[in-house]
Amino acid sequence: MALTAIVAGGAGFLGSHLCDRLLSEGRNVICVDDLSTGSEENVAHLASESRFELLRHDILVPLRIKADEVYNLACPASPPKYQLDPIRTTQVCVMGTNNLLELARHNDALFFQASTSEVYGDPDVHPQPESYRGCVNPIGIRACYDEGKRCAETLCFDYHRFHKLDVRVVRIFNTYGPRMAADDGRVVTNFINQALKGEGITIYGDGSQTRSFCYVDDLIDAFRLFASARPGFHGPLNTGNPEEYTMIELASLVIELTGSSSKLVYRDLPQDDPQQRCPEINLAKEKFGWSPRIGMRDGLQRTIEHFKSLPNRPLGY
Ligand code: NAD
Ligand code: UDP
Repeated sequence: MALTAIVAGGAGFLGSHLCDRLLSEGRNVICVDDLSTGSEENVAHLASESRFELLRHDILVPLRIKADEVYNLACPASPPKYQLDPIRTTQVCVMGTNNLLELARHNDALFFQASTSEVYGDPDVHPQPESYRGCVNPIGIRACYDEGKRCAETLCFDYHRFHKLDVRVVRIFNTYGPRMAADDGRVVTNFINQALKGEGITIYGDGSQTRSFCYVDDLIDAFRLFASARPGFHGPLNTGNPEEYTMIELASLVIELTGSSSKLVYRDLPQDDPQQRCPEINLAKEKFGWSPRIGMRDGLQRTIEHFKSLPNRPLGY
């Protein structure tokens, strides 16, 4: 019989791509989402699929349905979005994850947790290996997400030790691609939409801070390799593309690829904005032979085409 996977946050950017992949592999998929930062639009193409169901539900409310696998991607991911209601963000990370862990425990299901490179905070080790314990400001404006996700990891590993739950924890580094919300405020969506509209490209700070960007298809490959591997390795596993760019370099590339006449405009750097971030992915290579295949030019071009194809291109954040 086909396995049933719950994808919490399945109407979001990453979650909708994961739903596609799981369906293509023959699973039944229940997408559990409160549609707070995701949208029905992201899964509209699955509406006629009999093995797919969209369940509008807030993971802060306990859920009891049958499942063989539970994927937890339910959480706002963009700094402006997760800072809008920071108390709720912490609650979703901690209590929401706890509710889904309970759901997995009742079903004896596999539990897959979307953690984040933000657990490393503003890192003083570069690039960041999984063994690095991070440098997070616990009382800053990013803490609701960073500390929330760190506590969610703690819960996962305690459920594993205490309840013998089969958990798999990925630490996702900045990932981009089609179906990101155009107005979500993250750098790739802001720059592309600003460039397509000929508006100023907003550089926060002096633009020398770095990020390493992974195209969504590569990330979903890593998810599936990790989730379908035999039990025994629970992570955490870094997933990301180690190609590192300053924000100035990213802006130049977006301007070049869109052929835009936009100019750079400078804005204040938000508090606690990490100065550098790059994944060390040796573990993913060793365990699963995984490394990203899609380079930045190719991935950005695909993402630009996606935003160009939208009927009403919304403004950047
Ligand atoms: P997204 O905002 O597009 O998706 C998040 C989804 O979760 C949305 O559909 C939203 O409606 C849903 N959601 C939020 N709170 C919920 C709740 N209480 N109950 C039910 N659903 C809820 O963001 P994304 O980029 O797709 O991120 C998905 C996951 O991956 C998040 O957990 C995020 O922390 C993690 N992550 C993403 C990145 C990245 O670069 N995209 C990096 C690190 C970690
Ligand atoms: N950033 C920027 N201009 C923008 C949006 C973001 O310069 O319009 C910067 C931001 O300050 C950060 C980097 O881009 O240094 C990545 O920001 P994003 O919000 O995408 O992700 P995160 O900070 O969580 O990595």
